Amino acid sequence: MRSTEALKVAVVGTGYVGMGTAVMLASLGYDVVGVDIDERKVEMLRRGELPIYEPGLEDLLRASAERLRWTSDYAAAIPEADVIFICVGTPPMAGGAPNLQYVAEAAQSVARHLNGKLQVVVNKSTVPVGTGDWVSRLLEEHAENYHANRYVVVSNPEFLREGTALHDSLYPDRIVLGSDRPQGIARMRELYAPLLDQTFTPPACAPRPEGYTVPELVTTSLSSAEMIKYAANAFLALKISFANEIAGLCECVNADILEVTYGIGFDRRIGHRFLAAGAGWGGSCFGKDTSALISTGGEYGYAMPILEAAIQINQRQRHLVVNKLQRHLPRLQGKRVAVLGLAFKPNTDDLRDAPAHDCIARLTALGAKVRVHDPVALAAARREWSHLKYDEAQSVEEALRGADAVLVMTEWPEYCALDWDVALSGMRNALVIDTRNVIRTRPRYGTVEQIGRRPTLMGA
Ligand code: NAD
Repeated sequence: MRSTEALKVAVVGTGYVGMGTAVMLASLGYDVVGVDIDERKVEMLRRGELPIYEPGLEDLLRASAERLRWTSDYAAAIPEADVIFICVGTPPMAGGAPNLQYVAEAAQSVARHLNGKLQVVVNKSTVPVGTGDWVSRLLEEHAENYHANRYVVVSNPEFLREGTALHDSLYPDRIVLGSDRPQGIARMRELYAPLLDQTFTPPACAPRPEGYTVPELVTTSLSSAEMIKYAANAFLALKISFANEIAGLCECVNADILEVTYGIGFDRRIGHRFLAAGAGWGGSCFGKDTSALISTGGEYGYAMPILEAAIQINQRQRHLVVNKLQRHLPRLQGKRVAVLGLAFKPNTDDLRDAPAHDCIARLTALGAKVRVHDPVALAAARREWSHLKYDEAQSVEEALRGADAVLVMTEWPEYCALDWDVALSGMRNALVIDTRNVIRTRPRYGTVEQIGRRPTLMGA
């Protein structure tokens, strides 16, 4: 058995998943090289800068710098690697199926540099069932150094959440390894031994949680592993949409969704997590992965009505936000609306499929003047949302000053901790649409609309 230092790792695609994987494996003692076609990212990483916001990751990147290299040259990474992770994006296409172009390009580039010895190619990107076999064929077709049975494809889906990526990578609930070849599973078991046995020294920025022991190792066929990832995300999306559907009914019958979800979550079969009613899910995964599953079903003539309903409910939640605002301000033309939170969730600057995007677009289409605040995502929005019209505020106070209404779109801790009596005092009109139910102590005056809860009205 080799020492961990002897295993060499290449990570292709250094986005949220690839970067986290590379840094985590380097922190466990492996030599890791990250490959990306985006030169800007590679340059930043070489300078020890993180191109994304992810708590703790920059500290670990710097601490593990001597075991990490970054390149855009496959030839400098693949030949020497024992394990090659493919972590490129799989964004949705019109119609819902994921775009596998980046996976194909990555697999072909990897193939050209395989070394003819046993190498394990790991699909960490979320890909439809059957992609592992397809990647295997691509490797075979494009390998210049082809030796039958010398490389093995393994599916190792990623379950990390942005915002807690480091914690999720070091202390996962389970590690899923899917392969139809035992050598692939054996190599991956070896790679993940420090995680599976929890023998590493936890970094200061991600201490081992109290009570955490070891993750479950789940070994399956290639296709089951691919399905596990989609099914897990679809179930979580479904759970959120379920909470949102019940929240709407709570508003009709004057019940409180916070009390209801608190009450049902104690049932161990249900649990409290992913039952937060609000503006609905966003991010790069839930929408894309539910649509991908439905699209796969469509290829087999198999309808997936539960998932279709989950998506519909999610879209309805986004409309609900501005609808709630319109109940109090029927004419938005010329009104000043503050938006607190752009990222799809706290502790990330990821704007992909963020509910705030659709709300800002609708508000400006209705003639409102929008001023936004986000603790970390303003710079990302400048790059990615240049098609939207809004002003930036550098503080919550600045965003709220003179506003006719404020929408809370992301449950950043600083918004949860706001003293709303003070915050509202700077507004022209004290109206809050709290789409994340962050306000637990209602302000003394003003109107607060939440999701699935009775509104508090001005002077009530
Ligand atoms: P991302 O868009 O942040 O990063 C993808 C990276 O791949 C980019 O840096 C891009 O430049 C690079 N890339 C594209 N083509 C390349 C090529 N041919 N060679 C080298 N690099 C290339 O994506 P992400 O959010 O990290 O997601 C990656 C995969 O992981 C997706 O399939 C996603 O569904 C899945 N996933 C994401 C998350 C998450 O929270 N973001 C969680 C679990 C799984």
